[in-house]
Amino acid sequence: SSTRISLSPFIQSIKDTIDRHADEIAQLDQAIGDGDHLINLQRGIEALLKNIDEIEQMELAAALSKIGMTLMSTMGGASGSLFGSMFVTMGKQAKDKSVDFASMADIFQAGVGSVKARGKADIGEKTMLDTLIPAAASLQQSLVNHEALPVALEQMKTAAIEGMESTKEMLATKGRASFLGERARGHIDAGARTSQLMLCAIADVII
Ligand code: ADP
Ligand code: MG
Ligand code: MG
Repeated sequence: SSTRISLSPFIQSIKDTIDRHADEIAQLDQAIGDGDHLINLQRGIEALLKNIDEIEQMELAAALSKIGMTLMSTMGGASGSLFGSMFVTMGKQAKDKSVDFASMADIFQAGVGSVKARGKADIGEKTMLDTLIPAAASLQQSLVNHEALPVALEQMKTAAIEGMESTKEMLATKGRASFLGERARGHIDAGARTSQLMLCAIADVII
């Protein structure tokens, strides 16, 4: 059984949304980080686009692993190792799976689990996990409820946006922002925002 799926529309859509929000993303990491999150992410996306023909030839599991290894070796930063490990894990999880909604939700859930493990972090610590965990949970809930795919994706987008916004008033306990104490309050976490933008871009390609 072939599990090929064209990933280039997703990668292109992710590139577009990150480029459109470039100034905002740069400012978020400048406020409570070291200001490089936008550049790290754009470097990773450029590397994916450079390898896009090779990625397009691969089955889903191999393509996800390739994406993860490319991000790990090019992005740098905490986010490079976290997004990288997420995709490598999704590649492992995608082996022998069909390309349907239930499999996709499980693959994503496993990827989010690897970010938790590698980052030694959980929800409520003002990181990308505040977007990723609610988004994955929303997809799982939609499966239980037998929601139609477009409905499930709209609910996932809402969960991602609410999760991203929830980081604004949080104190950070992981990552660079954790050194700022109360000064981190009032700023959205950069990785939470880019994770939300990417998830919404992916959903919009499908919807
Ligand atoms: P760096 O912090 O090394 O400069 P980036 O700026 O590219 O790397 O990415 C920072 C983002 O990574 C943060 O906004 C946060 O969302 C995420 N992050 C940092 N540390 C962790 C962690 N331990 N667990 C989960 N996410 C983290
Ligand atoms: Mg940074
Ligand atoms: Mg850095």
